[in-house]
Amino acid sequence: MIHIILFGPPGCGKGTQAKIISNKFGFIHLSTGMIFRDHITKKTSLGKLASYYINKGILVPDGITTNMLNVEIQKHFKAKGIIYDGYPRTKNQISSLEEVLKKFFLGKIDIIFYFFIQKKLIINRLLKRGKISHRDDDTDIITVQRRIKEYHKKTSLIWENYKWKNRIIKLNASLSVKKISIFIEKKILNLLY
Ligand code: ADP
Repeated sequence: MIHIILFGPPGCGKGTQAKIISNKFGFIHLSTGMIFRDHITKKTSLGKLASYYINKGILVPDGITTNMLNVEIQKHFKAKGIIYDGYPRTKNQISSLEEVLKKFFLGKIDIIFYFFIQKKLIINRLLKRGKISHRDDDTDIITVQRRIKEYHKKTSLIWENYKWKNRIIKLNASLSVKKISIFIEKKILNLLY
């Protein structure tokens, strides 16, 4: 099973690309943000817990997030591949993912696509998205800024360990959706064949 991570700040286009790529290759798309929002809509206890952090624009604590993701992964043992969108966001989450993949003989983290983009562009994109998606964490400028700050403080450097060096592929997230998806597709095809 192939494991592909889409990594980058909020609003960089991870979700858009995850949808395109998972459709194209028949992979599972796992978005922690989407799973949390689904729990919030269904008013589960996890949803109630997570909404506190999400509405503030800060990361949901690792224990909650890793448990949730481990449950999701176990639904997809037969998948060809998984695209992770918004996970991992901390070093603990990386370790947890490596552990669960090892425990169930599911392979390893194969590629990390690292999206780069200017801060000004992502703020505009998020506020624009907020108008359509009505996501509370996208409509409020303070929450948007807090999420970007949180990304730089807790997330952006999590792959700095030398062991990831050859698995990281940087990409310019200000290019068009089409250009980025073609770029990603080519890299995945290289991995598959
Ligand atoms: P974005 O990438 O635009 O921030 P997401 O939908 O991925 O949007 O995430 C929304 C919120 O869900 C985050 O601000 C955070 O509170 C929570 N969240 C999502 N993924 C994680 C994660 N891996 N660890 C902790 N919190 C997360």
